[in-house]
Amino acid sequence: MLVGEAPGRQEDERGQPFVGRAGGFLEELLASIGLPREQVYITNVVKSRPFVGPPPGRNRAPAPAEIAACRRWLDEQIRIIRPEIIVAMGRVALEYFAPGLKISRAHGRPFRHDGRIVLPVFHPSVAGRWPGRRGMLRDDFRLLGRLLRGPRKEGSGSSQKGFG
Ligand code: URA
Repeated sequence: MLVGEAPGRQEDERGQPFVGRAGGFLEELLASIGLPREQVYITNVVKSRPFVGPPPGRNRAPAPAEIAACRRWLDEQIRIIRPEIIVAMGRVALEYFAPGLKISRAHGRPFRHDGRIVLPVFHPSVAGRWPGRRGMLRDDFRLLGRLLRGPRKEGSGSSQKGFG
């Protein structure tokens, strides 16, 4: 399962997550580890598009009250889907699983949360704004590929650096 922040304008129009520019890069990252988009479940912390100005307005970061209001929906998605691995993409998604952790320090360091593996990575939209982080995202997805391939049940993953 991959969790982003909130739908942007294109996602809002199409009713699907990550179908805009960030989605294009996300698909490239998934393809780099041999994962077709159809094999993963992609969603967001916030379920409707936060924007400012007269519609369609501009995207903005979700407010804490909006994040809190959507919490039970993502909780329920996780309960139903029961993913073994959750990729928390960006600050808002990481905050959901590990309040207080900073994405710049936590990215690429998987940890356990409610019996699942959570892998924090930068949000794919950073690729446009900070090209330097593109490479870090690629590295972190390579780690995701290894986590998916490696045995996870018997604790081999727990010897992974950064596992807690
Ligand atoms: N950014 C997100 O966090 N989610 C989307 O669905 C699209 C862009």
